[in-house]
Amino acid sequence: MITTQELLHARRQAAGMIREAGIHITDKEADGIEVVDFGLSRLEKEGVQVLTLVQTDRISVKVLALFPNQTEPEHWHPPVGSDPGKEETVRVISGTMYFYLPGENTFKEGFLVKGKEHCYTMRHELVMRPGDQVTLAPGVKHWFQARNEGVVMYSFSTIARDVMDQFTDKAIVRTTKVVEK
Ligand code: ZN
Repeated sequence: MITTQELLHARRQAAGMIREAGIHITDKEADGIEVVDFGLSRLEKEGVQVLTLVQTDRISVKVLALFPNQTEPEHWHPPVGSDPGKEETVRVISGTMYFYLPGENTFKEGFLVKGKEHCYTMRHELVMRPGDQVTLAPGVKHWFQARNEGVVMYSFSTIARDVMDQFTDKAIVRTTKVVEK
């Protein structure tokens, strides 16, 4: 869970990063940025900020912001009904991103979240900079991380059903609880 204050602060920071990256967003969109702590209550370590630009029954376009040294936990997009699962292309707009997926262990630049090493099993590392992109087939496990300057990226995909996503860390709950404080 996060507090209302944390939510507003994270939204403001994410909106600033997105605008700084050169993407024009309205104030209304900035107010709608989703702050996701994955139910772990340590947003600055494991979390993501998401602005949804397009969401129809078929496609989805999002802008994701990761704060400095923030990690999006390892997950995959499973089949849902007759849909084989979300196919996704991630493209970096600003910052450097460490992206992990199946393949040879080339882990070098990133870090494993302390105490959660067993929840990050993909060790094939891509170092992605602005203009770099990667396309993931449905069901492929992945996680990613920002370093010192944070990262802003696009996510283009077939329909996103975020609540159906599967995570290696069984403690994760996809819906963020916000409490007054
Ligand atoms: Zn994903």
